[in-house]
Amino acid sequence: MKKLMIPALASAVTACLLIILFIPACGDSRSAEPPDASPAPVSMSPTPPVYVPPVWYTPPPPPVTPPGPPPPELFPYDGVVEHLFFHEVIAFPELAFNGGPDQRGYDDYMVTVSEFNLILESLYRNDFILVNMNDVWSEFTNENGERRMRRNTLMLPEGKKPLILSFDDINFYEYMRGFGFMDRLILGSDGEIWAIGFDPDGNEIITQDYTVVTILDKFVEANPDFSLGGVKGCIALTGYEGILGYRTQSSRTNDTQEFRLNRMQEVARVRPVVQRLKETGWYFASHSFGHINLDTSSLQRVQDDALRWMDEVGSLVGETQLFIYPFGSRLDGGDVWDTGPAFLFYHDLGFRIFASVGFEPFTRLKPDIAAVVCDRMNVDGITLRRQRDRFSRFYDVAEVFDPMRPVEYGTNW
Ligand SMILES: [Zn+2]
Repeated sequence: MKKLMIPALASAVTACLLIILFIPACGDSRSAEPPDASPAPVSMSPTPPVYVPPVWYTPPPPPVTPPGPPPPELFPYDGVVEHLFFHEVIAFPELAFNGGPDQRGYDDYMVTVSEFNLILESLYRNDFILVNMNDVWSEFTNENGERRMRRNTLMLPEGKKPLILSFDDINFYEYMRGFGFMDRLILGSDGEIWAIGFDPDGNEIITQDYTVVTILDKFVEANPDFSLGGVKGCIALTGYEGILGYRTQSSRTNDTQEFRLNRMQEVARVRPVVQRLKETGWYFASHSFGHINLDTSSLQRVQDDALRWMDEVGSLVGETQLFIYPFGSRLDGGDVWDTGPAFLFYHDLGFRIFASVGFEPFTRLKPDIAAVVCDRMNVDGITLRRQRDRFSRFYDVAEVFDPMRPVEYGTNW
């Protein structure tokens, strides 16, 4: 009797799993819903009933593993590692460039979906390969017993040039709502990252076409040799309006139960999104809690801000050694030649790689402490309009520039 029960239980569990798998993806109307299973006709014949699977269930074909290409041979690389950074893409330029007060800011600091797609294609065509910023340097103990950072020799396929991509402020701030950006990243029931937002007609959409994360995910899926081991990019987060479109931040003025409950729900919702991002080649950096200007803030403010980031963002995304300077302004007003108290404070929190903004892929291993300071090149309207030559090794701005950008700001090419 016991033996007979086990297969029965197993098939019930299988049926449950099948039903769960068929729940459509997060309200995505494109997902097929199973039609109602009609009750099986009662058999009057003396022959024993035969199990007939529900009509909507098609067993999956047996897995076929094609003999894919062998993994490429890897060669040591000690040359320049390029580093480009973006903000979130403008999904609908007609909303961002509507003549409103923020139009100039969107034009200066963002790229559009079409520009981002064309830039990725050009980077791929020019033999760049994505690498993880955490893999470029590592901490070691030198002959004097001191902890320092050193550059690692990367192992790359022949002819490939390493490239770090970082993406700042993937927070989906309130001020961006309704101006042509998605609202947040979500985890679909297919287990993949999607974005939710509104199209220009006000219809809610669930899509993978309109955020840097989902666009790069799809691009690497289609072109796996654009990424070393599936690496995507660095997501640099503030915390003052939560992360990834979820309002996970605390409040020092609102102590209502409603606020606390909502915050708990947002924290619970964002966790699986963070988890999936980490599983799929994304990694996180601090971008300060309040997007503060490190150059002009008091040491006390810098320290309070850093601790709040650790508490409210670090607790969600996990440990990181990466700090991306907001506004590109450096700790203590300068960290290349000096190591000031704010820098030491961040170092004590575990940060080792400090990235600003510059004209070239500058990096310096600090001789007095285990830390790297480096620069990233900004891909945005400012450089698309004014710095064609400087970016020519990555893409030709004239080929990627979106004609939907306002004409009045001009270009110098
Ligand atoms: Zn920023």
